[in-house]
Amino acid sequence: MRCTRCGVCCQETEMLLSKEDIDRLEAKGYPKEVFVRYDDSGYAILRNRGGHCVFYNTEKTQCDVYLVRPSGCRVYPVIYDEDKGIITDSICHAHETVTEREKKRKGKIVLKLLEKIDREAANRS
Ligand code: SF4
Repeated sequence: MRCTRCGVCCQETEMLLSKEDIDRLEAKGYPKEVFVRYDDSGYAILRNRGGHCVFYNTEKTQCDVYLVRPSGCRVYPVIYDEDKGIITDSICHAHETVTEREKKRKGKIVLKLLEKIDREAANRS
């Protein structure tokens, strides 16, 4: 895909996090309390601050943790929709530049990731 770095995907994020994502970011010195919130079902979700992800740098208009960003951010704009299955998120300005091949490859990753995240949430609740 051809990301335009518009940052729209980092506004009011609801990105789910795996334990591996959390551990990787903690190992980089970010305390969990700063970037994780848990919902009532035990899902770990990226925190927002000021209307955008806590890691989104508004001055540089880029992700401060790009190299260690969560897995869901890596495969974005390929996402899972409960009704439609694997899709590209239409809010992404570049979603139409994702090829079918890329969508298929990332879609497999998304499904595996969600299975893992579901298991981790079930173990927490
Ligand atoms: S971690 Fe980075 S890429 Fe992911 S939502 Fe936050 S700022 Fe955006």
